[in-house]
Amino acid sequence: MIKLKYGSSAVYPIKVPVENSLKSFNFFLYQNEDSLTLIDTGMDNETCWNGLLETLSKNKFSLYDIDQIMLTHHHMDHIGLVNRITSKHYVPVYAHERSLLRLKRDESFLKRRIDFFELLYQEAGCGERGQKQISYLKKALHNNKNQTIQTDIRPFLSAFCDFKIIEMPGHADDQVAFYAENEKWLFAGDLLINHISSNALIEPDINGRRSTPLLDHIESLKKAVLLEAELVFPGHGIIIKDHQILIKKRLEAIENKANKLYHLIAKGITRANDLAKTFYKKKYDQQFALVMSEIIGHLDYLESAERIKKERVNGVWEFSLV
Ligand SMILES: [Zn+2]
Repeated sequence: MIKLKYGSSAVYPIKVPVENSLKSFNFFLYQNEDSLTLIDTGMDNETCWNGLLETLSKNKFSLYDIDQIMLTHHHMDHIGLVNRITSKHYVPVYAHERSLLRLKRDESFLKRRIDFFELLYQEAGCGERGQKQISYLKKALHNNKNQTIQTDIRPFLSAFCDFKIIEMPGHADDQVAFYAENEKWLFAGDLLINHISSNALIEPDINGRRSTPLLDHIESLKKAVLLEAELVFPGHGIIIKDHQILIKKRLEAIENKANKLYHLIAKGITRANDLAKTFYKKKYDQQFALVMSEIIGHLDYLESAERIKKERVNGVWEFSLV
């Protein structure tokens, strides 16, 4: 049995099933002596909204009892209900400073982001498939305007509402975890998911520079392994009990995938795009952006271990063994 109460604190998970590999959207009500906090908000849809209202009423709360919202990162399956909640009941919303441009869908940032991906895919040798992704991003720039978070966002202080706020970049560069030390509870966004490995997504930083998300993700996992956490509350799937064992498994899987890529490079496959196609086959076309992040991330990893090197030939990176 998982214990969701400790002294005067309690967690009320809101778990909304979804029929894809994520299995569920999770968000959490956290109660302590002085306040009720909503950690993440699921998707902007009826099932998440009803899930929130039901969990509130089952525990004798209403929407008006929520004192604040804290966001682990800016992805839309974590921020979905922010507008709906704050338009009915004003509550402060806290997020990492680096979330701001994204939550506000700052147009010049999003345009620079598209330029960033255009160059990234060119340099990876993606050709037409890369261009297709760029036109998708251009359409999304216009179509997703209604996802802009309307309310003011407040940046976190280093500790807040009994939590230590711990930066956990990798899956997203604004990702933070909330650590309740007494309870030994870690609300970790998408840092760790029980049934799948989290993607370390390539993104530009606010200055348009490329992050090295897989390297950041590894550092974040190593940070999390040191935390005494009896329970890790993830953004998807079941609540995690043995986070140290799971983290070890995830780190090993990264190493294994990197080794497989290393062998493909040894066989003479030199471009990120060709490595992605060979490695992921059908998934390459279906989940292009994710797949490219994975490949480029693992190439960063091999490069940082000085096992491979790269050279720019006619605007495309060519990888070879050291
Ligand atoms: Zn996410």
